[in-house]
Amino acid sequence: MKITSAQFIKGVVGEDKILDNGISQVAFIGRSNVGKSSTINTITGEKELARVSALPGRTQEINIFFINEKFYLVDLPGYGYSKASKDDRQWLFELVNWYLFNDHYQQKKIVVIIDANIGPSKDDLEIISELEERGKNILIAANKIDKIKKSELKKQCDKIRNIFNDHEIVFYSTKTGAGVDELIDAVLK
Ligand code: GDP
Repeated sequence: MKITSAQFIKGVVGEDKILDNGISQVAFIGRSNVGKSSTINTITGEKELARVSALPGRTQEINIFFINEKFYLVDLPGYGYSKASKDDRQWLFELVNWYLFNDHYQQKKIVVIIDANIGPSKDDLEIISELEERGKNILIAANKIDKIKKSELKKQCDKIRNIFNDHEIVFYSTKTGAGVDELIDAVLK
């Protein structure tokens, strides 16, 4: 399967009729700097669709993209950026929580991007556990496998698999392209 079209629709910061128009939503979340923008650009084949930045914590809105003229890819702000001001962090936290835990919105899937090299952070585990409590359909997307030593790769992937044995997991790297086709299949499924 392929992503043949991807179009930026708009950024939202609260209720918006676009979220209520019956088109299904696949949400992308992850801690800031995990490579969420790189992932969105890689899977859509659009180099600048989502903004990749050396400065973490830049996505301040919920950005909505229309994929294959079929579903919305909902790009949520990254969480846990330690250098952001307390007010900014609180606001982003509330925005992410509002969208994910608002019973009104039923996402088809929530793609949680984690760093495969570091493993899930405390924030990742907390948010995943809240998503599980609400019965959300989760896909774990473990990025940056290029950073893992070849000799450690199997061990590290098994370790992460063991943490999330109930969820589908894809290991990939936006840098080398390894696992990206599998990720696209899992997102589109
Ligand atoms: P975001 O804040 O989650 O949207 O993260 P970005 O997409 O802006 O990426 C953050 C940093 O991680 C950038 O320097 C990227 O070049 C880098 N990055 C993203 N994906 C990978 C990957 O698969 N491997 C490596 N080594 N670096 C990556």
